[in-house]
Amino acid sequence: MHSFAPDTVELDRRSFVDGNFLENKGAPIEVHRPSDGKIAAVFHEADEGVVDHAVTAAKEALKRSGWATAAPRQRAAVMRRWAALVEKHSLAMAQLESVCSSRPIAETLERDVPVAIELLRFYGECADKTSGEVFETPRDVWSLTLHEPYGVVAAISPWNVPLLLATAKFAPALAAGNAVVLKPSELTPFSALRMAALAVEAGLPHGLFNVLVGTGQHTGSALVRHPGVSYVTFTGSTRTGAAVMTDAAHHGMKPVSLELGGKSPQLVFADAPDLGRVAEMVASSITRNSGQICFCGSRLVVQRDVAQNLLERIVDRVKTARPGPTWSEATTLPPLISMPQAERAQRIVDQARAAGGELVCGGQRFMDGKAVFFEPTVITNVQPGSEVLRDEVFGPVLTVQTFDNYEEGLALAAHPLYGLSAGIHTSDIDKALAAAQSVEAGVVWVNAYGRSDDIVSPFGGFKQSGFGKDFGVAAFEKYRRARNVWIRLGQPRAAAEAAHAEIAK
Ligand code: NDP
Repeated sequence: MHSFAPDTVELDRRSFVDGNFLENKGAPIEVHRPSDGKIAAVFHEADEGVVDHAVTAAKEALKRSGWATAAPRQRAAVMRRWAALVEKHSLAMAQLESVCSSRPIAETLERDVPVAIELLRFYGECADKTSGEVFETPRDVWSLTLHEPYGVVAAISPWNVPLLLATAKFAPALAAGNAVVLKPSELTPFSALRMAALAVEAGLPHGLFNVLVGTGQHTGSALVRHPGVSYVTFTGSTRTGAAVMTDAAHHGMKPVSLELGGKSPQLVFADAPDLGRVAEMVASSITRNSGQICFCGSRLVVQRDVAQNLLERIVDRVKTARPGPTWSEATTLPPLISMPQAERAQRIVDQARAAGGELVCGGQRFMDGKAVFFEPTVITNVQPGSEVLRDEVFGPVLTVQTFDNYEEGLALAAHPLYGLSAGIHTSDIDKALAAAQSVEAGVVWVNAYGRSDDIVSPFGGFKQSGFGKDFGVAAFEKYRRARNVWIRLGQPRAAAEAAHAEIAK
């Protein structure tokens, strides 16, 4: 019922700066639709001049509009109106999100767009429901914290869940009183551009939210380095995160928060409450978005007694994934974002097989017209330290390792570099809690896997999976800095000093 014809979707091809769409003059970029390989749009990227224009407009908007200093409920009201407008345009927004990305329409309509709307509302409400502290001091002193926005926040987001991951940045940053310049992935800028236009329609003052189209190498890097940017929030690969952090360190020592890659384990003990449910969770975690999810549970670590049974159930389920274009409602296995991405996944799987890995199912990329897909792949007997165990594949590829006892299971679940998320499946509460506290991961799901639509919980990794949280109140708080104001009162001073002298005796 919600399948759509991709050619009917109109795409904005310009940056959005100071409340208006703006032609860029940088190098031309072709955006291809992953589902049929067609060129969907050609745009020019935002060069340094446009980046400067956007950051300057953001700074001036902050001064002019009083956004940071007005009553927080005024910000909340704008966020509410913005959410209502996005809701009104939900279907169009879902199509816009699906047409050039790997997100199937069923998921953008049921999940990505509704969650983005909820993020606008949630962070609008945070605006006046968080407060500073007053510290315990002598009576003649008041020491308190005032929270204030940083100023202009640069937000950089990836292509894999474009709308949701971008909204998880700009919604809290704006609600906290900042202005935002967002650089979404060059492959998927369209939903963010529409969000910016709707923000202005909702009454957000011009210049507070700007969206730049362009590559990371040029537009993204120029944005991070711009002297007018006071805070950088980034979601993407660990490698790019390091480059962003370096740029931020060398151009003003700006604070950064980084949501980076992962290689998450699904640790399944023999006493897992329901193997059928576990199989469902493992299978959907690797097939959803065709594995192109940062918290994809791509390493199954399972106790030997139940390994065969679980594996058979997982294989049965992954085989039901239906490949197809993102604009078909029936699709549950979308295309990979690009051919280089598919070639990389193929190389990693081939290398694992050459080193003795055994395929239980899948193992091949395949084409449908110009769209490239990857078969859901389950591979056992993988070599410790191999690329398929160490690196993100960003395809529907699951490795399987078995263990005999608790310690062995935890050791296999540990990853030398990443610490984004982990799943633990057991009916023993002691074991679940012990494992949840031992595994080095920023998010641990017990007898569950994957983010629910509930946005109240913070999400973010440890180690090379980054630092700083998106989602939850924690994300709002990270976009404010704390100022300590220390006030010595004049009147009661003499009495207080006398009291201090008394105590000192
Ligand atoms: P990339 O790191 O390639 O790119 C992320 C963003 O950074 C894009 O907008 C990109 O622009 C931009 N960029 C690239 N180089 C620079 C630079 N030097 N300076 C500033 N910006 C730059 O990641 P992908 O887009 O390929 O996304 C997939 C990655 O994101 C995976 O590793 C995944 O695990 C991670 N991710 C992490 C999440 C988390 O919450 N921890 C959530 C989702 C994804 P462009 O692509 O346009 O060139």
